[in-house]
Amino acid sequence: MKITIDNKSGFCSGVTSAIQAAEKELRQSKRLYCLGDLVHNSSEMDRLRNLGLEVITYDQFKSLKNERVLIRAHGEPPSTYEIARQNNLTLLDYSCPVVLKLQKRIITGFDQMSAQNGQVVIYGKHGHAEVIGLNGQISDKAIIISSPDNLTGIDFTKPIVLFSQTTKDENGFYQVAEAIKQTMIKSGIDPDKSLTINNTICRLVSKRVPQLRKFASEHDIVIFVSGIKSSNGQFLFSICQEVNHRCYMISDVTQLKKEWFRATDSVGICGATSTPMWLMEEVSKNIEKMNIL
Ligand code: SF4
Repeated sequence: MKITIDNKSGFCSGVTSAIQAAEKELRQSKRLYCLGDLVHNSSEMDRLRNLGLEVITYDQFKSLKNERVLIRAHGEPPSTYEIARQNNLTLLDYSCPVVLKLQKRIITGFDQMSAQNGQVVIYGKHGHAEVIGLNGQISDKAIIISSPDNLTGIDFTKPIVLFSQTTKDENGFYQVAEAIKQTMIKSGIDPDKSLTINNTICRLVSKRVPQLRKFASEHDIVIFVSGIKSSNGQFLFSICQEVNHRCYMISDVTQLKKEWFRATDSVGICGATSTPMWLMEEVSKNIEKMNIL
């Protein structure tokens, strides 16, 4: 059996910066609050909790005073900064620069749409932290669309500017754009004049799709390691499944099953942008230890 870990899997730069900052801070102060899970991976979160990271909810954040709080890569709405100011909280802001840039583009898009009585539409997951942060920039005035099959809330007779959450899939984004376009045409509106499409999916995420497709097709069996809460993980796993029918998604080594493997297999281990490399290495060692004959 040959086992290969995909060297392109693992944390993206935004997540890496936030985790390194948390580790550095915890070496000095032994306790650090973090607003929401720093990364959607329970094994990595357990490791960080053991170092002293304390994850707090928004309600807990509102009643916290005079403390240091880490802001994760997803970014935050302006209300978070306002609460921090009122409660004398020091924010260690590790919002990803790519997300911050998108927040600014959404504000600009909103200003342009307001002047034309138009709408901002975001292709994203309802309730996802990044989407809350994006929509918060424009006082929650965006219409959030999670599927091309449900465009509820959009007025197709008015101008539309479309953006995407950074971790969504490109295919889905263009399907949403096409569905909006076709409905505009049916409503007698020219989409070339009234629809602006901004593909704001993070390039690290969109590049992962062809890379992962290639990696998954080169192995007999694929073990995809990801937290179940990671939307990026769910999506990338579906890409592996498209090209390899022996794909298994696990969140930690306890979910590995010996009967999945054959002695002659070439095993590919990969993961999402929220999967730590140490976890994929642990999975590799555990498969080796199974001693498949
Ligand atoms: S996926 Fe891209 S946008 Fe999102 S945190 Fe990582 S680097 Fe930033």
